[in-house]
Amino acid sequence: MKIAKDCVVSIEYRMHLGDGNVVDESEPGEPLEYLQGYEEIVPGLEKVLEGKQAGESLKVVVGPDEGYGDYDPEGVEEVPRSEFPEDLEIQAGGVLSATDPDGDEVDFLVKEVRKDSVLVDFNHPLAGKTLHFEVTVKGVRAATAEELEHGHAHGEDGHGHD
Ligand SMILES: [Zn+2]
Repeated sequence: MKIAKDCVVSIEYRMHLGDGNVVDESEPGEPLEYLQGYEEIVPGLEKVLEGKQAGESLKVVVGPDEGYGDYDPEGVEEVPRSEFPEDLEIQAGGVLSATDPDGDEVDFLVKEVRKDSVLVDFNHPLAGKTLHFEVTVKGVRAATAEELEHGHAHGEDGHGHD
């Protein structure tokens, strides 16, 4: 069957940022399963996979607008050191997480540790990047009613989440 909305698709993929150095890939023999049409993967990749079928391999280049968005300079903020727990070790290059007003967990990058403050970056690490994918479609099947209700694919063992 061809990939269309409400199908569960399994893909093997590798991703690099143009220089060939792989920054993300599926585990060998463990393809990524996702539900087509529910933004489980970046929009630019989902769009190209529409209509493809098992066995097809493709190379896809996805710009930031259809990937993780443009890099937003306003996503960089200077936060007083006193707003972090005193015993927390903070190092430039480290990734920390915080809870936003909606109760969602957000990760952020520590850009720079200053005397009394910390410069942090809330942009997605892949924001502003052009993503190069090599993808092979391993399987396509109809989603179960439960998967459609949840808006995501479930693994072979059933749920995989609470
Ligand atoms: Zn679920």
